Amino acid sequence: MIKSVVSKEYQELQKQIVQLQEHWKQTIDPETIRPSIDQAAIAAGVPIVSLTAIDFDISLFLQWIEELNVTLITNNPELEPNLAAVRSVLTDETVIRWIEEAYSFNQTYFEKFSEEHGLEQWIPPFLAETALRPYLQLTAEKTQHAISHAMPGAGCPVCGEPVRLAVLEAEGKKVVHCPRCHAHWNGRRLECSHCGNTDHEKIHFLTIEGDPVSQIQVCGECNGYIKIIDTRQYIEKPSAALMDLNSIHLDYVAQEQGYSSVGEKKQTN
Ligand SMILES: [Zn+2]
Ligand SMILES: [Zn+2]
Repeated sequence: MIKSVVSKEYQELQKQIVQLQEHWKQTIDPETIRPSIDQAAIAAGVPIVSLTAIDFDISLFLQWIEELNVTLITNNPELEPNLAAVRSVLTDETVIRWIEEAYSFNQTYFEKFSEEHGLEQWIPPFLAETALRPYLQLTAEKTQHAISHAMPGAGCPVCGEPVRLAVLEAEGKKVVHCPRCHAHWNGRRLECSHCGNTDHEKIHFLTIEGDPVSQIQVCGECNGYIKIIDTRQYIEKPSAALMDLNSIHLDYVAQEQGYSSVGEKKQTN
């Protein structure tokens, strides 16, 4: 029985980071996030965050990076030299750039940055993304009331993250959750979140031996998948971020079978 392939230590670290983010979010002045809710833009698949004015507090951001570094070093002291090097290159200007590039998932920028500064590849994007999330999460909280569904293929209506995870609630209702910003919206039981396919003959569910609460929904049209967790038996529902992490074994199974987490765009002639 493969329940989870992520080490206990890694899960523990992730839990600590989720707690940090929750705490950071509470220190943001809600007035510094001013979303504009435009239903036509939402219907066109434009993420709300891209139409939201956010006054980032650079000193707060730097403080979070510092707290995150302490957490990472406590868990793995070998990271100390690399993280100290990050501290020395993080100017206000760099922080602003990091926020922008993390928001738009610019891997190329971070690869170049890491190379230029002799840092391990994963560190700058990880720090930037981790410290960006409380802002995304607060934006989602402020706009959740306006979100009922998502455009297939557009990802999360708040932050644009590709759809990865849905939960089954009472009466089998499917609710899609974003592990990045924690927004959630209703999903159709037999619809592919990546390409919008509703042909029930092309939507299949893979089950995992020994894991009765999880399914992988796969689409024969775009070859994409999402994870579905039946939370009806749960006494306390974990956050979407933790559910995503705790179900990483489903990603391995789906990808091993040739499915993609974002789906593939069909070639149109
Ligand atoms: Zn999101
Ligand atoms: Zn599809």
